[in-house]
Order: sequence, then structure tokens, then C-alpha cells
Amino acid sequence: MRITILGSGTSTGVPEVGCACDVCQSTDKRDKRFRTSAWIEVEDKRLLIDCGPDFRMQMLNRPFKKLDAVLITHEHYDHVGGLDDLRPFCRMGDIPICGDQQTLYQLKRRMDYCFTEPRYPGIPTFILNSVTSMLPFTIADVEVLPFTVMHGKRPILGFRIGKLAYITDMLTLPDASLAVLDGIECLVMNALRHTPHPTH
Ligand SMILES: [Zn+2]
Ligand SMILES: [Zn+2]
Repeated sequence: MRITILGSGTSTGVPEVGCACDVCQSTDKRDKRFRTSAWIEVEDKRLLIDCGPDFRMQMLNRPFKKLDAVLITHEHYDHVGGLDDLRPFCRMGDIPICGDQQTLYQLKRRMDYCFTEPRYPGIPTFILNSVTSMLPFTIADVEVLPFTVMHGKRPILGFRIGKLAYITDMLTLPDASLAVLDGIECLVMNALRHTPHPTH
């Protein structure tokens, strides 16, 4: 298994437009960060975790290969704003989108043109897969265990795939989810800042 971090920036990206802070003014290339997303390869299958508004830029310099599924942690724009840019990948086949009920409900509302008949030619073609925390599922031959992460008061999903776990936008982690991390070898986890934040 191989993970590529496509983005690790905050919701506005780093640098933030108009921000005069030291990080945003920095010339260090590590301070140029796209919105959070990860590309996971398991044998010959490829999964994307979250698809934010930087997705197109994140993919421009990468090999163009079939995408087998997208896992969505939650429906905030910085995690789903690039879904329409999956169109070139949809030409290789419909793409399963896995998320919790709330996330899929919001996607259907916001991207209603993808789910209503008659379908306009050229729109992205998705298959929505509702998944539930703590119930493992298999997508594109890859077993995934979704678990609950608290994003402030909103439960969102983290994902365990083999010995990898991916957590974003976490404020707190329920004990049951901590147990899910037992035995992992790689943990991706958000770390927004040193001082407290209400939702991260
Ligand atoms: Zn800044
Ligand atoms: Zn969020």
C-alpha cells in the first residue's frame, strides 16, 4: 500500500488569500499547501480520500490513471469542492463515492444535476455508497473500516485501510475509535495549531 498526501493545508489553503502572517508570507515550499486530500494505492486499485477544491491542481502533474473509489470524511466544501473535476476520471467508469448518510444527503442537494433525470451529457457519474461508522465495507476489493471522529460536535468519518488510518478535522476521538487504531503502522492526523480551536 502507498499513500500520497495531495494536500495538507487548512480549509482556506496555505497561503490564505490576503493573509500577512509569517506562514502565509513564507517562501518555504512547505508553506504552499493545498486543501487536505490523500491518494491511496492498494495493489492495482486507487482510492481518493476527500476531493477538495484544489483537486484539479493536485492531479495536473500526476499520472492519469483510473480512480476506483472516493472516500469522503464529511461534506464541508474544502473536502468535496472538487468532485465535479472528477469528470475526466468518470470517462473510465462510474466512480463510487463512499460517505455517511449526512454527507451523501448534502452531496445530492449541492450536486443535484448529477443525480436528477434526464442527465445532462458530460456530468460526473457517481455511485453513492452510504457507509456507517464501525461497519467495515469493501470497495474496489479494498477493505475499509470507517470510524467516528468528532469534528467539534459533528461526527465525521476517519478511515482505516490495513495498517493505515486517516483522520482529518478532528477535535476529539471517541474511545471506540481509538481502539480501531490498534496495530496501525501509519497514522495521518490533523494538527491545526497549538492553541485550542472549537472544531479542530
Ligand atoms: Zn496566514
Ligand atoms: Zn470540516
